[in-house]
Amino acid sequence: MSKVIGIDLGTTNSCVSVVENGQPVIVPSSSGARTTPSVVAFAKNGERFVGETAKRQAATNPDRTISSVKRHMGTDWSIRIDGTEYKPQTISSMVLRQLKKDAEDFLGEPVTEAVITVPAYFNDIQRQATKDAGRIAGLEVKRIINEPTSAALSYGLDHGEAQKVMVYDLGGGTFDVSIIEIGDGVIEVLATAGDNHLGGDDFDERIVRWIAEEFKKEHRIDITRDFSAMQRIREAAEQAKKELSTSEITNIVLPYLTQAKGEPLHLETSLTRAKFQELIWDLVERTAGPVQSALSDAGVKTSELGRILLVGGSTRIPAVQDKVKALTGKEPSKNINPDECVAMGAAILGSTLQGQSLVAAGTGKDLLLLDVTPLSLSIETVGGVATKLVDRNSTVPTRYSRVFSTAAPYQREVEIHVLQGERPMARDNKTIGKFKLKGIRRAPAGVPQIEVTFDIDANGILKVSARDLDTGKSQSITITADDRMSDAEIEQAIYDAQQYAGQDTLRREALELTGEAQNVANRAQRALNAGGKQIEKAVKKQVKNDINVLSKLLGKFRADRVTEEEVEKIRQAKSDLERSSAGIMHYLDEN
Ligand code: AMP
Repeated sequence: MSKVIGIDLGTTNSCVSVVENGQPVIVPSSSGARTTPSVVAFAKNGERFVGETAKRQAATNPDRTISSVKRHMGTDWSIRIDGTEYKPQTISSMVLRQLKKDAEDFLGEPVTEAVITVPAYFNDIQRQATKDAGRIAGLEVKRIINEPTSAALSYGLDHGEAQKVMVYDLGGGTFDVSIIEIGDGVIEVLATAGDNHLGGDDFDERIVRWIAEEFKKEHRIDITRDFSAMQRIREAAEQAKKELSTSEITNIVLPYLTQAKGEPLHLETSLTRAKFQELIWDLVERTAGPVQSALSDAGVKTSELGRILLVGGSTRIPAVQDKVKALTGKEPSKNINPDECVAMGAAILGSTLQGQSLVAAGTGKDLLLLDVTPLSLSIETVGGVATKLVDRNSTVPTRYSRVFSTAAPYQREVEIHVLQGERPMARDNKTIGKFKLKGIRRAPAGVPQIEVTFDIDANGILKVSARDLDTGKSQSITITADDRMSDAEIEQAIYDAQQYAGQDTLRREALELTGEAQNVANRAQRALNAGGKQIEKAVKKQVKNDINVLSKLLGKFRADRVTEEEVEKIRQAKSDLERSSAGIMHYLDEN
């Protein structure tokens, strides 16, 4: 039986883990790192990069490099590259495919199943989108699990003692806080809260803005208009931020950042930790609200908290740790790795789902995981009111039903408008689906009885159904949110991804060949220049012609659309040129 891998699909970085000999281990990336940047890049020649290689070339290829796509999950965001439209699910699937491959290389066997983590605050559509991304990557997603729950799971396995813990998770793009009870073989999420748009990227952005202002003061130039300079500044800002987690001051040096009146301009400045804290204090402050709301929803006082677990790279920032301390009156635990524990928890769950009866250390019992739904679920009723069926922080999996009726006389159909959020009016909440129940028998208003049922599975994914109790007939209804990919779209994306993977060998071979061919053409051109008049006319003509033929083919070449026939043509043209230029190459050495 192949293993179920655990994937922390992060905004900035992703991490994959698998259980070996009863213990979760981190799968190293192809470049030997323990996390993989969640970055995808499309090179101009059609090659695709994922992870470290994609991140490294971001500055030189900013408009074709995609990072933080997690922020767009479940929205209608898309990016058009070389005529193809990519949705967040498809971009995410490329990261997932890389992680899958790394795990396969590590384990030496195929991997087809995974548990993927999402922020607790992800809504239904975002969860579905994540599941779809997995499917496109060729992974059966056995379970979607909340990141803090996953962290607690990895912690619970290490420390068996019963207690209530707070997981404070501040990553690159999202903030989650959860109150979790680790008990006798049971890990129960009591409440969760957070902010889907708050994280390390925002801290970076503050530094970027500060640098841009400093640069303007010094050079009177608005650097924000220079796309590739901004990309370099963004990288330097993140680097500076990280350094300030351990140092009091950091230097930011970017030589040749831009030009003015033909003169190169360099950036050299320093940022102190105090200044950085001043730049981000309001963002850090914003984490207080969710902390308080999670505590009050869970009915837990800070004095009852056993431990505070810090998750996510941004919790390394001293100002963030100070804030947590101030909010809880407790020193946060330092003995879990904030970058790795989420993936490890997912691997543990994956292994449990596979029937390998894993036990929470110290308890000697099977593990039971009880999660909660992060937001209230309602339907729209008369007057645009959001009528709640499921309160936020209800334990899942679960099922809720409620009977509604018609508002107008002789109404033959009702529209069920499903909403997620805490606001009293429907329009202020997020629409996650709409459907119609038709064929209601003619009756005065309020007489028909329509039972609406919300089914939330263990992934936190919702199915809604409606049944007319009068006719007894229930209609089969599926929620279709505008932002979701249709099955046909997913099938197409799976097909495209497989095509791309199938072409991998040919593409690699072609890239190698075109690199060599370009070299041959360059060298032949240099030999022509060096030999000048000493070269016989006929030879010169032939070499020029062969360079032309080869250069044309290389100009047309695109790695993502390469065919075997094209590779063969390039190979032939290269060898023609090598042959015709062989007699003039000695001019290169003579110069
Ligand atoms: P995650 O989404 O958990 O991978 O967190 C990534 C975020 O953590 C990014 O914004 C990183 O810049 C940030 N991060 C990673 N290491 C550090 C560090 N040492 N100090 C401050 N922020 C960090």
